[in-house]
Amino acid sequence: MARAKSFLSRITGSFSTGAADNPTVDMVEAAFRHHGMDVRYVNCEVPPALLGDAVRGARAMGWLGFNCSLPHKVTVIEHLDGLGESAAIMGAVNCAVMRDGKLIGENTDGKGFLTSLMEVTDPKGKKVVMFGAGGAARAIAVELALAGATAITIVNRSRERAEPLVALLNGKTEAKATYAPWTPEYRMAEGTDIVVNATSIGLFPDVDAKLDIDLDTLKPGMVVADVIANPPVTNLIREARARGCKGIDGLGMLINQGVIGIRYWTGVDVDPAVMRAKLVEIFG
Ligand code: NDP
Repeated sequence: MARAKSFLSRITGSFSTGAADNPTVDMVEAAFRHHGMDVRYVNCEVPPALLGDAVRGARAMGWLGFNCSLPHKVTVIEHLDGLGESAAIMGAVNCAVMRDGKLIGENTDGKGFLTSLMEVTDPKGKKVVMFGAGGAARAIAVELALAGATAITIVNRSRERAEPLVALLNGKTEAKATYAPWTPEYRMAEGTDIVVNATSIGLFPDVDAKLDIDLDTLKPGMVVADVIANPPVTNLIREARARGCKGIDGLGMLINQGVIGIRYWTGVDVDPAVMRAKLVEIFG
């Protein structure tokens, strides 16, 4: 019986480079096991030059879809049949989904963040300060704008990276985006509702690294979110909670993008608690 089952499994997976220790594999497979789903998530190391072959292979083998990480998030688009709304605005895909014989590119990073955020606040009508202007920042800022955030201030070390993001938000969404240089001990403006760290500051092993901000401008009731999933509780989240803010950790974003991907591929809503437990076990 076991042998027959393994031959019938449906397949999803991840196309990345340096794919050796991808926690998403354990997280997604834990959900499949918990729900008794006959689906496998396969981690594949795909060199950039062979990405097209990998996508054709996934089509030929009837994969349900796949995640892709850097450096494939933009170049994968030319191998797909269409894009979801936010992926089209961002110009980046981290999740391809087979729908009616067509491979459609979605971006679940920002959607995963938004799902976590919605558990504590609706961004509609809110003012956001976001640190960072890389891929994670772009995905989150676009979803926040599509969800009705009215003002998004992008604070980034390099102006060159921030300006295209500001232009993209102003050109393609209703939100009003502005760039603010990252001055020492950056102060959140009065009226800020949501603060997001979308930089890699604080990521393991540099867990003691701190955002250069004036922590006293984090006010009670503000929502402070971090994209860093490892460690689950960063310095920023700890300091924000100590000041009466609602802290949102990066684990939620990682888990929810997994939940959304599995829903896209299989139609099943899996239990996020199972995935969180697996990640906590991995990250400690
Ligand atoms: P990128 O390399 O695209 O962007 C990194 C960003 O961090 C840039 O804005 C960069 O600024 C900034 N930055 C890095 N180091 C510093 C520093 N020392 N001081 C100031 N700014 C700094 O990375 P991503 O956007 O793809 O990822 C960012 C983080 O998000 C990663 O740590 C990743 O682990 C996390 N992430 C979490 C996810 C989750 O599900 N929880 C999903 C995706 C990402 P500059 O432009 O000036 O270089």
